[in-house]
Amino acid sequence: HAVDSPILAVENLEKRFGGIVAVDGASFSVERGSITGLIGPNGAGKSTTFNCITGVHTPNEGRVVFDGDEITGQQPHQIANRGLVRTFQIARELPEMTVLENMMLAPKNQIGESLWRSVLPHFRGEMVEQEEQLREQAWEMLEFFEIDHLAEEYAENLSGGQRKLLELARALQTEPEMLMLDEPMAGVNPTLEHKLLEHIHELREQGYTFLIVEHDMDVIMNNCERVIVMHQGAVLDEGTPAEIKDNEQVIEAYLGG
Ligand code: ADP
Ligand code: MG
Repeated sequence: HAVDSPILAVENLEKRFGGIVAVDGASFSVERGSITGLIGPNGAGKSTTFNCITGVHTPNEGRVVFDGDEITGQQPHQIANRGLVRTFQIARELPEMTVLENMMLAPKNQIGESLWRSVLPHFRGEMVEQEEQLREQAWEMLEFFEIDHLAEEYAENLSGGQRKLLELARALQTEPEMLMLDEPMAGVNPTLEHKLLEHIHELREQGYTFLIVEHDMDVIMNNCERVIVMHQGAVLDEGTPAEIKDNEQVIEAYLGG
């Protein structure tokens, strides 16, 4: 696919829950290799948009195109296998498993492999090899995020910030091209927040694309090259931090709630 084409395009997305129109004709795109922010007041439809893009919800209308292919309505694991993964506003690690075990739960093409394993006996040798590889990769990832000393710790004993790091590490274990983070800084202390942002920039240097929902305006303004502003389910503005900061409508949307 053309390097300069957007990695993600959302076209006229609409999602209704009964009488509530959570997303109301949202359209935007995300440039390959960018750190893009998605902001908007509470209830603007940011999380629902994430859910529609990643297959958690099926939109009522509209299209989602990832890396040149339409993915609208596909299952979350299919979309993840294509290279688009997300984290949740509330971290979803498994509390009664260790950090390392959590890391091992997120292999690429999980479902396809277990099918092959059951059909082909000789596939098991390859599986052992792959698991070894996966474990090595998990360690590297934990080292990258500086939580390797917590590998044998139960996830429930981690701090809020450490959980966010684990979640990001788990997402990367699937070898994605693009990461969508829903409020990655929520409940994270300033030291870890700084570290998390450093990691995000380092990963972007490596070629990953980020779409980040974040309440903290300073985080958005200082780290994103483009920002999409949602209000009442639609896109109100899109541009550089400097551009959107001066938009009267944006200021109004925040102050008016
Ligand atoms: P944001 O993430 O921007 O705060 P959401 O996408 O969570 O906004 O919510 C947008 C609107 O959709 C809100 O009015 C919310 O109450 C509603 N909503 C979100 N998810 C559901 C759901 N599963 N069922 C019913 N209403 C929902
Ligand atoms: Mg939300």
